[in-house]
Amino acid sequence: MPAPATIVHVALGSNEGDRHRHLQDAIDRLGLVPGIEVVRRSSFRESRFAGDGPAQPDYLNGVVELRTALPPLALLGVCKALEARAGRRLPAPGNHPRPLDLDVLFYGDECIDSRDLVVPHPRWHLREFVLEPLRELGVDVAARPRRAAPRVVEPPGEFAALCSTWLAGGCVVGLVPTMGALHDGHRSLLEIARRECDRVAATIFVNPLQFGPDEDFAAYPRDLAGDLRVCAAAGVDAVFAPSVAQMYDPGFCSHVAVGGAASGMEGALRADHFRGVATVVARLFALARPHRAYFGEKDAQQLAVIRRMTRDLGFPIHVVGCPIVREADGLAMSSRNVYLGPADRAASTVLHRALCSARAAFARGERGRDALIARVRAVLATEPRAAVDYVELRAEGDLAPLPPGPVDGGRLLVAARFTDGARPVRLLDNLSLVPGPLEP
Ligand code: AMP
Repeated sequence: MPAPATIVHVALGSNEGDRHRHLQDAIDRLGLVPGIEVVRRSSFRESRFAGDGPAQPDYLNGVVELRTALPPLALLGVCKALEARAGRRLPAPGNHPRPLDLDVLFYGDECIDSRDLVVPHPRWHLREFVLEPLRELGVDVAARPRRAAPRVVEPPGEFAALCSTWLAGGCVVGLVPTMGALHDGHRSLLEIARRECDRVAATIFVNPLQFGPDEDFAAYPRDLAGDLRVCAAAGVDAVFAPSVAQMYDPGFCSHVAVGGAASGMEGALRADHFRGVATVVARLFALARPHRAYFGEKDAQQLAVIRRMTRDLGFPIHVVGCPIVREADGLAMSSRNVYLGPADRAASTVLHRALCSARAAFARGERGRDALIARVRAVLATEPRAAVDYVELRAEGDLAPLPPGPVDGGRLLVAARFTDGARPVRLLDNLSLVPGPLEP
């Protein structure tokens, strides 16, 4: 065995059984493996379970610094064997209590992106229970690489092959479809996916099928270099950025027709819009076959259409709706906001104010469907720059129309046009009458 050479950091965690013994045993046994020397270890500390799903016991966490001659995959094999020895059941995707969890954080300065191992660990910098022990060991966390840049893939076949490799390796795969020009709203989707999945693919594709002939397909903002920076910072594993010709070859002629939630509101104003959305999302689902796909509540009607389409076509995919991210003044973030002129930008806050005003009326006891809609319209009417397309109150979830009369909840949806900037901008917003757990 050559002299141990590479400095490696491994995170340890346990939230099942005798947690302290599991961590200490793992360190002791690592030190007994030929080719591994334990240099030092951090103290162990408690951290609350912060994942999704049912509540779990708190974790005990720490980090150990090793010097090793083992190649990365051999070291990973040792870690997996120690997890199994501690009683961890594998494969078990998702969050579940575990007697021992060993994650290779860094392997020297190497960036590794193999089926079984991604180093630097994609989420190390997002976890205080990793950052704190690293600091204790004197690691300059600000100087450490976040992770390898995401792999950029253009041909659909190559993207499908990459996702297949992940799936064959037992990874939980998350897909975040976008049209690029990424902002903090998109970033939140990527970060949620990053927390919940082993591999995250973002797609960046301005989909011509969902634009009408008079709409802004050609002028839609595009910034692939900026988008790749956002994806890299969020720890995305791969970015699928095909050209239109790659997605739709010249003979392309099959579409997914959608009804139900696709009628009314955007569906009434933008002929074939949701047909185009459903078609591209179905195509992305078929290529990636993810376990989970992430969409924003910002486009609530789109989310309802995709949920229904996923169910109707039998895609075994969990569609995750993510809360709306807003500017400090309440404007929902959108790639098209850059086209608002200064006066329209100032006026645009009226959408959120109008929705909040109706929600406040609901909280005070107003239950009339039409009275709540009238409340939104009254506030919108105070802003002459906003040309209102619609205001609706629909059932939460599937956005089914609500009959007139009293309501016990629901979601208000609004669209308005602003025309003072470089080009007209349509803004969409929505708000549940009952605040969600993540909303202010
Ligand atoms: P787009 O690039 O506009 O197609 O959006 C891609 C995804 O990001 C969609 O699922 C949107 O609903 C979501 N999204 C866009 N803006 C926001 C926002 N402000 N907050 C949360 N999600 C958003």
